[in-house]
Formats: sequence, C-alpha cells, structure tokens
Amino acid sequence: MNNTQIHFRTCNLCEAMCGLEITYKNTEIIAIKGDKKDPLSRGHICPKATALEDLYHDKDRLKTPIKRTEKGWIDISWEEAFDEVATQIKNIQKKYGKNAVGSYRGNPTVHNIGLMLFGAPFMQSVGSNQKYTATSVDQLPHHFASLMMFGHYLMFPIPDIDRTDFMLIMGANPAASNGSIMTAPDFSKRLKAIQNRGGKVVVVDPRFTETSKIATTHHFIKPGKDALLLLAMLNVIFDENLADAKHLKNHINGWNTVKEIVSNYPPEKVATSTGMTSENIKNLARQFATAKTAVCYGRMGLSTQEFGGLCQWLVNVLNIVTGNLDTEGGALFTKPAIDVVEMSRRTGKIGSFNKRQSRVHGLPEFTGEFPVSTLADEILTPGKDQIKAMITVAGNPVLSTPNGKHLEKALDSLEFMVAIDIYLNETTKYANIILPTTTGLETAVYDLIFHQFAIRNTAKYAEALFEKDSNQRHDWEILEALTSRLSGKENPANLEQTLDYMLQFSAYKESELSVATLKKQPHGIDFGALKPQLPERLFTKDKKIELAHPLFIKDLDRLNKTSSDKNTDTYPFSLIGRRHLRSNNSWMHNSKRLIKGKERCTLLINAEDAHQLKLKNNEKVSVISNVGSVILPVEITEQMMPKVVSIPHGWGHHRKGIKLEIAQQNAGVSINDLTDSNRLDTLTGNADFSGTRVKIERLN
Ligand code: SF4
Repeated sequence: MNNTQIHFRTCNLCEAMCGLEITYKNTEIIAIKGDKKDPLSRGHICPKATALEDLYHDKDRLKTPIKRTEKGWIDISWEEAFDEVATQIKNIQKKYGKNAVGSYRGNPTVHNIGLMLFGAPFMQSVGSNQKYTATSVDQLPHHFASLMMFGHYLMFPIPDIDRTDFMLIMGANPAASNGSIMTAPDFSKRLKAIQNRGGKVVVVDPRFTETSKIATTHHFIKPGKDALLLLAMLNVIFDENLADAKHLKNHINGWNTVKEIVSNYPPEKVATSTGMTSENIKNLARQFATAKTAVCYGRMGLSTQEFGGLCQWLVNVLNIVTGNLDTEGGALFTKPAIDVVEMSRRTGKIGSFNKRQSRVHGLPEFTGEFPVSTLADEILTPGKDQIKAMITVAGNPVLSTPNGKHLEKALDSLEFMVAIDIYLNETTKYANIILPTTTGLETAVYDLIFHQFAIRNTAKYAEALFEKDSNQRHDWEILEALTSRLSGKENPANLEQTLDYMLQFSAYKESELSVATLKKQPHGIDFGALKPQLPERLFTKDKKIELAHPLFIKDLDRLNKTSSDKNTDTYPFSLIGRRHLRSNNSWMHNSKRLIKGKERCTLLINAEDAHQLKLKNNEKVSVISNVGSVILPVEITEQMMPKVVSIPHGWGHHRKGIKLEIAQQNAGVSINDLTDSNRLDTLTGNADFSGTRVKIERLN
C-alpha cells in the first residue's frame, strides 16, 4: 500500500490494554490489528478494537459544546460554556453551600489518562463532599477488602494465570471481559494454556458462561450464595489440616479467629443454600488446597451482591491460607512503572472508610465518595446539603446504576447540570451544557490504573494518532479550564509533563523512564512477570495481613440471618446480569459493526422454567420486579441454572431525547429499570443488583 503509515498504541476501551497496530493514510484507517510485539497482549484484540474507527467517525459524537434551551440544543463556544458552567456552580454553592454540587464519574474515567490526572484538582476546586462514581456499582468490595486486609485500597492481589496450576473463577466471565481487576488480554488462550500444562480451571457461576465453556469444570451456584461456599471450602481446608500460609505465616493476624469461625460452616450445612452438593464443595476445597499452585478469582457477580464485601474478603482468605498469596502461580501484587500504590507512601492516600455518612440514608463514605445507589435520594430529599446541581464525567448512571428511572426523576429536578461526555445520551440529556472531549484515536494513551492490575509489569505510552480539530478540546484541557475558573489557580503542567513527573518515581531506575523514552519503544517495555513483595509492600501499621478484620467478622451475623431464600412466592426468579464481548457497558452500541447480528438483549431462561411458563423462544415477555418492569424477548437455553434468569447490562436506548441513531435502532431494555437502589451490601455500600427477585408474565 502506498503512503500508508503504521501507528502503535494501547486500546483503552476496556481493562485488557491490548496493543494495536493501526495502518492509516491521512485520516483514513486502513486496518486495525493486534500488535504482535506488545509484551502483554501478544497480538490479541477483540472486535471492539476495530470499532475505534467507528467511534472516530461517529456522526452522533459531539465535538463542541452544546446548551439546552427552550428551543432545543444549540451550539455554543468553549469560552461561553466554561464561563457559564463556572458561574452556575459558584452561584449554586453561594446560595446552598459547597455540598449542593454533586458529581458522578463513570467507568471510562479510569481509561483516560487526562481525566485521571486532571480530575482530582478539578474535584478539589469544586470542593463538595457529594462525590459519586461507578466504583460503588462495581469493584468497591475489592477496595474494601484490600484496605482492611493489606492497608491500601488499591492493593489488589492479581491472579498469576500464566503460571498457575489451578484457577477457580467465581462470578466472573473473563472470556467476555478479557479480565477485570486482572488485566489479561487474550484470556481464553491463557486459560487453555493452564489446561495444556496439566492444570485445571473451575468456574462457579449461576450461568454456564463463555468462560465455563473453555474451563475444565463448571458448577452452578445460586446467586448471592458465594460467601457460604467460600466459608464451607475454608471449613474443609482447616478441618483436613490443609491450611498453610507458607512464607506469610509470621505476617498474619487473626489466623485462629478465621479457623474458629469457618468451623461453623460445614459443607453439609450450606449445600442446599448454595445449590451445590456437599461432595462437590469438599472436592473443590481439596483440589484447590492440594494443587501445586492455585488462585481464586471472584469478580462482578461476587461484588455486586448482598455480601460483596464478605465475598472479596473470603477470596483473599482462601488464597492466603492455602499459601497462594504473594506466590508465583497464586495471586501477586504488581509493580508498574507509575506505581500509584507505592507513591501513596509520600501522599498518604491509602483510602478511608466511614469518615462521614451520607445525608439521607447514613451510608458510609469510602475513600471520599458515597455509594451511588443513594444519589437520587440525595438530589430529591430536601434539607441542608441537598444536591441542587450535578457534574457528570464520562458516565451514564441512568443505565448503569440501580433504579435508573428514579435517578432520571432526580436529574430532571436539578437546577443545573453539566456533563463532560461525547454523547447526548440517556443521562446527559438532563444536562444544561455538554462539554465533549476528544476520544480514542485523538488522544494520548498511558494506562495509569490498569498497569496497576495487570498480570505482567509493562509500560507503554502513545501519542494521539490523529490531530484533534481546532475546535475540539482534550479532556484534560476542559478540566483545566474549569479548575482555573473555579479556583483561580492555573496548572502550569500539561499532560506529558505531569506523566514525566510521575515516571521519575519509578522503581525501574535502570530504564530511565520518561515520556520521551517510552515514545522510543512503541510496543511497550516489559518488566517481566509479577514477583513476591510481602511483607514489605503492606500498608498496615504492623506490616501484617489482617486476616480477620472485625468488620468482616461482624458482618457474618448478617449473612447468618439472611442465608435462606427470600421473596420467592411473589417473585420466583432471581435475575442476574451479563456482559457481551461486543458491548462496553452502556456506550458502544452506536457502532454498526458491534451491534449487528442476532438480538443480544434477551432474557436467558432455563428450558424447564420456560416449559412451565409455556414460553416459546423469541416470545416477548414482561419481567417485573418491585421497582419496575421491562418487555423483552425470551432466549431459552441450558446455560441458566433453574429459577435464575439473565438480562445483559448497558441497554435501554429507547428513551426520548437522545442522539444515538444506531443504538436507538437496537435499543434493548435496561436491567436497571428492575434493580432496586435500596438494596445494598450494607458492609461496603456497594449496589446489590445481582440476584434481583423478579416474576415473568406472558403478554397475552
Ligand atoms: S479486549 Fe479490551 S483492550 Fe483489548 S481490543 Fe478489546 S476492547 Fe480493546
């Protein structure tokens, strides 16, 4: 091909950080392939990567600010937009107080270096404690367990899947996600490699997922019963003298407390509640504990349930008491080039819990933010510190947080809202002003967060492939413009200068890391496999792991009281979510190549249940919860456990007033029109929307 050029970068659409090789000519993309020389992804990409081209050309994507008026949306200049946003925020705070301005930051925030680096000073300039993010509908229990056990909310033990002999996967579907809180591009190949070297992979999930299909064994479990299974496995491990923390033996507090507590959960006692047989539980525990190396990994299905905090605690306990924490082939801590965990030794930002409580429901803060499930009530409930204005950043909480319709009512009541977003979507339609950022191929990329959670230590930086139009703004430029208007302070550093500052603290001194040196290595730099780092890396005061933090022990009372099935007469089915490879939460449905094909927003239901309800494949049914109802087609399958049904998350683009033409043609329904914002894991504040009770009715 003549005059074509090649650009290497990291895909920042999801956590997998796949290396891309993009062939282009001027602003035309010829091909997007996996970069075979990328040390982490080794040439892997998923179908979403090629949709970066669609995103770049998307005619619905906003490029300049728009303002909502009585006559509809109008274009305004950047200066006018910045001035009006700053004036409105200041006026509302003058009238009602600092906390009258709330904020919500969505999932893409952590995938964009500009939003990460310039978001904190912006939030400081707003000065409100009414802060919300997607964390509390996702991974909050992981942070909670890490803070309580290891002393730092970002110290996540990462499965060493390239060297393990036994992997237990609970409530996770990495064959679709390519790993989450475990950046593992080409996960499926890595999973098969475990089996090719004689190891085993066991999946425990209420659905026979895409990951289950390539695993050695799959067990169904009733939604929300994972903590009971983990306790029973630990019971067997201690009872049969299989527990041994190996090199961490002298660095653990609470060993005997855990041993005593798990003695109350013999497999025979919990088997019926979990839906697994006691024999299967015992075998699983023995296999895990006697494998040469093993790792347990639990994700969304474990976090977004009533006992999310307990689940993530017990996953860590299982890895620790079998000698698989901080061990090659087990779960290890990372050491990325920009190590935000290690940098906290200077900044003191290790995380916090329950320093203050939310105004309406008294829910605990975690690391400066409140659970997003309470956001709508904080907007709608009168009183001091009632939220009167909102700032949303790269988030669509109407579709992604529980009881989206309740939140819509709340957003509609605000005096002012600004959205930093590339789309006029289900949430941003309530804004008065939308400030669109550059995105994807128009931005520089260095993954600040997902290097921290990756299965290898690597570093990679790429500049923007395409120049932004003169009338576009980068995310960090928007945040900087607003920050300076609100605080009166200018930030002298740009994005690359800020990165350079952070790279000087890197542990890899010999590589003399800087943006300039990273630019010279377009495939990235490999610092190798993860290594043991304990006890030195711990942030606890006595440098010991808190195996039995009192907050977890106390929460077991709640588990013991609610371990039987509830509300099964009125709502006989348990509803769980699911994720597809060709979706990215709520925001990649405006790409034709990702949305085409068989309808994906369906209700998965077991064949026996469908037979009892006299349902036919593709028949539309009404799914009803205590909060609302949706109508969608049925997909009959053996994948589902009896009495458990599934709707994928991120759909529901039928709302009026949005501008997402392709997504609207394939709207689907939002699972969060059924989930209940009053249902929480009360230990951590995370939303409990895995296992919502529902009933199913035929339409005629
Ligand atoms: S798996 Fe994630 S990072 Fe990799 S190509 Fe797909 S969307 Fe991009």
